[in-house]
Amino acid sequence: MTERATAHEATPLEERLIALIKSRGPITIADYMEDALFHPHDGYYTSQAPIGAKGDFTTAPEISQIFGELIGLWLVQSWTEMGAPQAFNLVELGPGRGVLMQDILRAAKLRPAFLDAAHVWLVETSGRLRHEQQRRLRGAGIATDWADSFTDIPPAPSLIVANEFFDCLPIRQFVRTATGWRERLVGLDASGDSLAFVEAATPPLATLSLPDTDQIAKGAIYETGEAAEQMVDEIASALVAHGGRALIIDYGHLGAGAGETLQAVRRHASWPVLAAPGRADITAHVNFDRLIGAAFGAGAAAHGPVPQGEFLERLGLSARLERLCGGKSPAEIADIFAGAHRISAPSAMGELFKVVCLGAPGLAEPAGFRA
Ligand code: SAH
Repeated sequence: MTERATAHEATPLEERLIALIKSRGPITIADYMEDALFHPHDGYYTSQAPIGAKGDFTTAPEISQIFGELIGLWLVQSWTEMGAPQAFNLVELGPGRGVLMQDILRAAKLRPAFLDAAHVWLVETSGRLRHEQQRRLRGAGIATDWADSFTDIPPAPSLIVANEFFDCLPIRQFVRTATGWRERLVGLDASGDSLAFVEAATPPLATLSLPDTDQIAKGAIYETGEAAEQMVDEIASALVAHGGRALIIDYGHLGAGAGETLQAVRRHASWPVLAAPGRADITAHVNFDRLIGAAFGAGAAAHGPVPQGEFLERLGLSARLERLCGGKSPAEIADIFAGAHRISAPSAMGELFKVVCLGAPGLAEPAGFRA
């Protein structure tokens, strides 16, 4: 059976969504993403094994251990700059298979006092991924707890890391029509048996403050990410109140009006967003301007965005690479270089992926953000 054929067999989630839309009308793209990704039983992250060669997509920590090691050293340095608090939360949002945290903790061994002071908190909704994180971090010998959401973590000075987390938070889309903005919704096609994008019949609420339509071409799409902005507001408020820093790494853009960035992937290839909900990953580019705006709104400092490749190079990627290759076979060395190239080269992940640091006001400019 081909992948395409699978897409036409309705998934359990698709059948329920079609029934819901038939009885109640179209739903927002945010509601669709929420269900497709996080439905407790049939959601993508809850029911599938998304990450890695056998999954649907791969991420920087899965490609090269250097990624997590350099971030581990960045965290140790940040902890020192915070005045080396004797107890702090080391938080990861959306830790996937736990590889990044494993590499962070290994690199941090060079400062045992950092590990003694750290309480690891993993914010993860998927029971399946939690299990995998547990297995991978069991031997680390460090207090580790799981939370459903960031706000469930007891307040303390914090160092927070989020790699490819914000891109899966739900977004909404608005289309510029002849009569102004209309929300783009998930409804049904003419047959009434398949999901299809439709436009809302009435204009969106003015409180959404969408851009003026004057300069915007008909058919253009504008995206908003309320969930991401709220998340940044919670993080920034916690940093302002209790101290610390957050490192956010994701693919994204600066500035509004970037157009449509909603996309789905399955088995490492592009996939139609509305096909087989629950079986494909759905993401959207992160709007860094909006996130930084939310952080400023909460009184936090923000640095970046800096392209991932530049950030890693400033943290000592080349030196680390050289050290890792010592005593290795030519084939192993080729592998190490290929991984480093993928996470840092502008033609691969180095330019599209960007790094932002949020922090309590008054801390120095963090490493990696200074030219
Ligand atoms: N950071 C990992 C995995 C990225 S995939 C890596 O770099 O490999 C996204 C991760 O975020 C998954 O673990 C997913 O289950 C989790 N996730 C997504 N949205 C979430 C939310 N709202 N709350 C908690 N975890 C979430």
